[in-house]
Amino acid sequence: MENNPIIAGNWKMNKTPSEGNAFISEIMDRLAEIKNINIILSPPFTGLYGPSLDYPFFKAAQNCHWEEKGAYTGEISVSMIKDCNAKFVIIGHSERRHVFGELDEHINLKVSAVMSGGLKPILCIGETLEQRQQNKTNSVIKSQIEKGLKGISSFENIVIAYEPVWAIGTGLTAEENQIYDAHERVRITMRELYGENLNIQVLYGGSVNSKNADSLIQISGVDGFLIGGASLDIESFTSIVKIVEKIQGK
Ligand code: PEP
Repeated sequence: MENNPIIAGNWKMNKTPSEGNAFISEIMDRLAEIKNINIILSPPFTGLYGPSLDYPFFKAAQNCHWEEKGAYTGEISVSMIKDCNAKFVIIGHSERRHVFGELDEHINLKVSAVMSGGLKPILCIGETLEQRQQNKTNSVIKSQIEKGLKGISSFENIVIAYEPVWAIGTGLTAEENQIYDAHERVRITMRELYGENLNIQVLYGGSVNSKNADSLIQISGVDGFLIGGASLDIESFTSIVKIVEKIQGK
C-alpha cells in the first residue's frame, strides 16, 4: 500500500447511504483488477458505517471533531469514524475552511485527534485566487502546513492534498507548472520544518476529470488526486483510476 498512488473521491453532501453502498459495490466490481492504486471513497457520515472495504479500497470520513465524546451537537468523533471501519479522515477541506469557518487551530486539533486514534489524515491546503494574485501561494502553503501539523512528530501516516481553492468545483484546473511548483513547495516546507527523508504523499485536487487526469498524474511530485465532482460519476471515477493505473504501469 505504501507509496502507491492514491485516488480519493470526496462525495461531499451527496448520495444517501443506499445510493452510496450501491455505488461502492459497483466501483469495486468495475475496478476489481486494480492492485497498485489506493482507492479512497468518502461518503457523508450517514453512509460511512459498514465493514472495511477490501484492499485496495478504503473509506474516509470528510471531517471529524477533535474531542472523544461529549456535548458537541452535530459532531462526530474519531472513534465513531473508526467504528465505521474508515481508515482516513479528510481534514481542512476548503469548504470546511471557507464555508464553515474552520481555522488552522481547529484543523491542527483534528489532525492530532485522527493520528492519536490510529487513522490517517488527508490534510487539505491551498490558496484562494486572491492570495495567488497577491503572490502569497508559498506563504499560505507554509503557514497551513506549519499550523496544521503543529506538535505532530510522526509523518508517515499523513497525506497532504494541495487544492487551490479557485480550482475546486469550478472547472478551472491549475496549470501544470503551478501544480508542480506548489507540490515542490509542500515538500520544501516539510523538509524545512521537519527534516530530510520524509516520505509524504501529496495529492492534487481541483477539477480533476477523466480528460485531464492523464496529464496531471504525470506532473512530477503528484502522487494522486483528491476528486470532488468527478468522483460522483461512476464512469468518470473508474476511468480516472484506470488512467492512473496505466501511467503507473509504464
Ligand atoms: C474537492 O472537493 O476536493 C475537489 C477537488 O472538488 P472538484 O474535483 O469538484 O474540483
